[in-house]
Amino acid sequence: MTSGDLTRRRFIAAASAGSLAAAASRTIPAYGDVAKKATQLAILGGEPVRKNKPWPDWPSCCWDENLTNSLLKTAKSGIWCRIQSASGTVPTFEKEYAKLMGTKFCVATGAGTQALHTCVEAMGIGPGDEVVTSPYTDPGTIQGILSARALPVLADLDVESYQLDPADVEKKINENTRAIMPVHMMGQPADMDSILAIAKKHNLKVIEDACQAHLAVHRGRKLGAIGDVGCFSFQSSKTIACGEGGGIIGSDDELMDKCYTVHNHGTSRRGKTELIGPKYRMNEFEAVVLLGQLGGAIERWRRRNENAAYLTARLKDIPGLTPQKLYPGTESGSFYLYTMSYHKDQFDGVSRDTFLKAMNAEGIGLSPYITQGLHREPWIDHIVSSKSYQRMYSPERLRQFSEQRACPKCDQVCEEMVMLWASGPLLAPEKEVADIADAIEKVWENRAQLKQV
Ligand SMILES: *Cc1c(COP(=O)(O)O)cnc(C)c1O
Repeated sequence: MTSGDLTRRRFIAAASAGSLAAAASRTIPAYGDVAKKATQLAILGGEPVRKNKPWPDWPSCCWDENLTNSLLKTAKSGIWCRIQSASGTVPTFEKEYAKLMGTKFCVATGAGTQALHTCVEAMGIGPGDEVVTSPYTDPGTIQGILSARALPVLADLDVESYQLDPADVEKKINENTRAIMPVHMMGQPADMDSILAIAKKHNLKVIEDACQAHLAVHRGRKLGAIGDVGCFSFQSSKTIACGEGGGIIGSDDELMDKCYTVHNHGTSRRGKTELIGPKYRMNEFEAVVLLGQLGGAIERWRRRNENAAYLTARLKDIPGLTPQKLYPGTESGSFYLYTMSYHKDQFDGVSRDTFLKAMNAEGIGLSPYITQGLHREPWIDHIVSSKSYQRMYSPERLRQFSEQRACPKCDQVCEEMVMLWASGPLLAPEKEVADIADAIEKVWENRAQLKQV
């Protein structure tokens, strides 16, 4: 048995035991009394909680000599493209990733956006069709739909989870709707119980945007393996990364075969050019970097979950900040980001901006994330006035589409949410993660000083 197998088995054991809940229920050690000792906020000249201590640097911290050697091996082999060998690194990665995710198949692509577009195209979704998705996401989510010239219809959010609000999803469904594309924001599960029920009721496909959600588990199933298909990104910032890369997972033979054909410029495994398809193949070097990372990815996933549970437990008595709400059935997240809602009224009216400056002065890099939902970006006006959409959609539909763009809950999330970069701080030992909670406690307890800022 290889060490990779061992790690995988430990991972499965941890996942099935519900490591998140277990970690959250244990006693929380305190590491010193920083909050009580240093009462002057650093932003006003006091001693910062954390000084000159860098966090792990992602993604370079996952690089090792084995990875260098594997890259050289691929370089020297001359097999740089997946179609040169059935046992090259891309086909091998696809097998390994599908196994890890618990699906029959994986098709690797050049990006998460490419993976999403491939699925939309493979499902035959195109002009005239609608896909309901979230305004609070990476632009790649809607681009996967727009590239097929379908309409991404945006539903509003649950302000506590930053995920799609299933009630609003259902309101946005009509006779043109073909699929729901839930986005697992920050890598934690969207409300999948409700979304699956709605999809079933209206006979819709579910394309999971799991681009942030590697290894997270909902009711015993990995995110991405729950819907008809699931899409991942391996872009540098993601928790499994190769620079730019993506992948589709699924277990439907016919659909996954179509995904392969679409991503391979419309050419099937039988060698026939059969469908409309861009060329979205992953290259062999990208797969080397991914394969070299899979074992360690599980260990990092565990650490982010344990550190997130520790932080959440430490924050429970601070009414000014509420960590992202997790839905029933959540067994673990990926914790791409650790996020919280900032409640200005609890902080005596101090703005989020001032709070963030105070946290940064304490040596903890908290920041906003998405500051404007996709419903407020110019692409809506662009497509409504574009020749191609005007040829494919009636003026009435485009007018309706343009007018139904309001997402007030998403606006609220954009204003309230603060995030911690998880693939840095949350990869550190818990003793260091304590600095984050200490700094938050310090700023919270001394919030009256923030009025002087
Ligand atoms: C990163 C991301 C994408 C796009 O993936 P790329 O690999 O950058 O194309 C799509 N959706 C979400 C939620 C993402 O975080």
